[in-house]
Amino acid sequence: MKTKEAPAAVTNACKLCSPLGAVLAFKGIEGAVCILHGSQGCATYIRRYMISHYKEPLDVASSSFSEDTAIFGGSFTLMQGLDNLIKQYRPALIGVATTCLSETIGDDAGRILHDYKKERAGQGLPVLIKVSTAAYKGTHADGFVSAVRETVEALAKKGTKNDSVNIFPGMLSPEDLRNIKETAEVFGLRYTLFPDYSETLDAGQWGGYELLPPGGTPLEALTDTANAAVTIELGNSAGQGETAGKYLQKEFGVKRASLPVPIGVKATDLFMEELEKAAGKQIPDKYLKERGRLIDSYVDGHKYVFGVKAAVFGEEDLVVSMAAFLDEIGMIPSVCASGAPAGKLENLLREAIPDFDAKEITVLEDADFELIEQAVKKISPKIMIGSSKGYKISRKLNIPLVRCGFPVHDRAGGARIAHVLYKGSQQLFDRIVNKLLEDAQENSAAGFSYM
Ligand code: SF4
Repeated sequence: MKTKEAPAAVTNACKLCSPLGAVLAFKGIEGAVCILHGSQGCATYIRRYMISHYKEPLDVASSSFSEDTAIFGGSFTLMQGLDNLIKQYRPALIGVATTCLSETIGDDAGRILHDYKKERAGQGLPVLIKVSTAAYKGTHADGFVSAVRETVEALAKKGTKNDSVNIFPGMLSPEDLRNIKETAEVFGLRYTLFPDYSETLDAGQWGGYELLPPGGTPLEALTDTANAAVTIELGNSAGQGETAGKYLQKEFGVKRASLPVPIGVKATDLFMEELEKAAGKQIPDKYLKERGRLIDSYVDGHKYVFGVKAAVFGEEDLVVSMAAFLDEIGMIPSVCASGAPAGKLENLLREAIPDFDAKEITVLEDADFELIEQAVKKISPKIMIGSSKGYKISRKLNIPLVRCGFPVHDRAGGARIAHVLYKGSQQLFDRIVNKLLEDAQENSAAGFSYM
């Protein structure tokens, strides 16, 4: 059941700005920095937002639009900004993401970069990659996908074909990225994970400030993505638009497997099957044991989750995979909401949940938190699952919130929330069951000590 109500005004949209997604993707490249072509406010907002979630220092430069540049164009300030960045950071790559303002005035950042390269020819410039990220046209997830695609398009080069695997994981947590890398290693695979911000956005203690934090996908590995045997792209919506995996398939004949975000047994099985094919060996015993433990926990916790209604919100990929996971454990994802306006969410949910109609699921696209609150009030789910932006509704309606995805501003460890594979799903399942138990315990007149 899709609710299409046109709100009078957007109140706290369930999406973030598109360049933010591009900044996140560029943080997953070794030696990269990002500059926003627009006003300083955009860079400040993105820095603040991401630092609050990842609890790591994060530099985002800006071409610093003023009133004059907004009228006459920002060619000069972008070139000056690039000069400064190169001088201070000596980066291997600079990601240039446009903002609402530069897009609105029609500044052609691609042409500016072309002129810049011509003017500075012979100066050993870093790789420059431009991505169009008008926030009024897309969400942070769109900005992320575009940056991944533009980077691969710019760097992939035909060389010697090999047996490596490209893994393009989508917007997962650093902890998820580490789990995926560890799994590929246990399978004995040669692989390229892109983007990989598992270290740049969740690092250890440094002696001093690192202008370019260690970690990230090396540029050579990105060049070699053209020669891999297969690309595994995660995220249901990845099948819909132009993606890096589709580009590699079209230009270099790299086979592509498009899979859902591996949350839960079914979705993780699909991911493991792809790794089995790529590695030419059966799933290692370690993962069979993790799978067994996950299923056993489903059995143990079934009575607490069966038939329980939930509201899920966030970026499309997470919402679809989370809803499928809830369906797998016997819960009902009664409200599924995303800020993405592309009109794909209901179809993706229909594909992911076999008895979609019988479950009477309310799907909210292009949603803000006002609309989500109305739906949650009407349906009265027992739990909410999504970013900490849902906290106000959770508090107002007294419905517990399981924080996951991005952003998590009001808890520690946002970078270490596990969502994927058998191990991550296990942690997610335990958190959901425990949140329900905690709520039942707090609201029980007698209280209880045993579950
Ligand atoms: S003006 Fe646009 S690009 Fe800048 S922060 Fe706001 S939504 Fe993002």
